Amino acid sequence: MGFCKLVIALGGNALQEAGAPATAEAQLEVVKKTCEYIADISCKGYEIAIVHGNGPQVGRILMASKAAENITPPMPFDVCGSMSQGYIGYHIQQSLRRALDKRNKKVPVVTLITQAVVDKDDPAFKNPTKPIGAFYTKEEADKLKTEKGYVMKDDSGRGWRRVVASPVPKRIVELPAVKVLWDSTICVAAGGGGIPVVEQEDGSLKGVAAVIDKDLAAERLAEDMNADILMILTEVEKAAINFNKPNQVDLGHITVAEAEKYMGEGHFAAGSMLPKIEAAVMFAKANPSHKAIITSLYKAVDALEDKTGTIITLNK
Ligand code: ADP
Ligand code: MG
Repeated sequence: MGFCKLVIALGGNALQEAGAPATAEAQLEVVKKTCEYIADISCKGYEIAIVHGNGPQVGRILMASKAAENITPPMPFDVCGSMSQGYIGYHIQQSLRRALDKRNKKVPVVTLITQAVVDKDDPAFKNPTKPIGAFYTKEEADKLKTEKGYVMKDDSGRGWRRVVASPVPKRIVELPAVKVLWDSTICVAAGGGGIPVVEQEDGSLKGVAAVIDKDLAAERLAEDMNADILMILTEVEKAAINFNKPNQVDLGHITVAEAEKYMGEGHFAAGSMLPKIEAAVMFAKANPSHKAIITSLYKAVDALEDKTGTIITLNK
């Protein structure tokens, strides 16, 4: 094998343990474990870039900023996103370097604050669905609607929350920088799916309050980097049809056509497994030599050796 370019998308469980306190210290402990697995992958000879989620992290930054609004002006959502990229990247840089040191591997680890261009006319802006930040009463929600123009929705009866759109990432702004860094570093990029920005009439970029799916951003990055493999690491070892039903069947190596058939039949939940399958299909479709893998962190090395995981390619 020559050097094989691999984009890894890390799910929420790679940063945070369910039920553990939401502290920076607890997150760092999880990131340290995660980075042992990534270091193992790196030692297998892959050239890696890392994309990670940031939902809970950016939510907490937003809430902290809001709660302190009488002391210091709250930060807008795009700024909170950049902050989350910064501290998650810092944790990965520190932990992954340590894990690589133990393996006597010298490659530097770098985090790139990354913007992703979205279309201001993306249909997602007409129907915001992603709840973010604090819960409010109906009265508070109404006030935010009129005063700030926020879209507020009742979140499963638990209270009112601001909802934002989840538009499709069209372009990774820092792609040229990722290209420069790729050969000589492990680059953490497009964290949280990238900071969503729109292009202005004069060509400048402007941050918007939206959430980009990190699986779709990882796909964009992988495709534009001409990566060989897109690997989406999550809680499950394989995607399944009839998920959580007595007749559940875990999926091994499937083609794009098979994946599209299962998508059409509604086997993958929106907002969780569906965007992963969509990203995998998009990547596999772009080039017959592309391989997309969905598996767990713990099975990543095995899946790269075709021993497990859900693998999607254009043809078999
Ligand atoms: P991540 O943080 O890794 O993006 P998500 O919770 O968004 O994780 O998505 C992964 C989850 O999707 C799995 O843990 C599983 O509970 C759920 N899921 C929904 N549909 C399926 C399916 N068809 N097969 C496997 N897992 C599924
Ligand atoms: Mg997810």
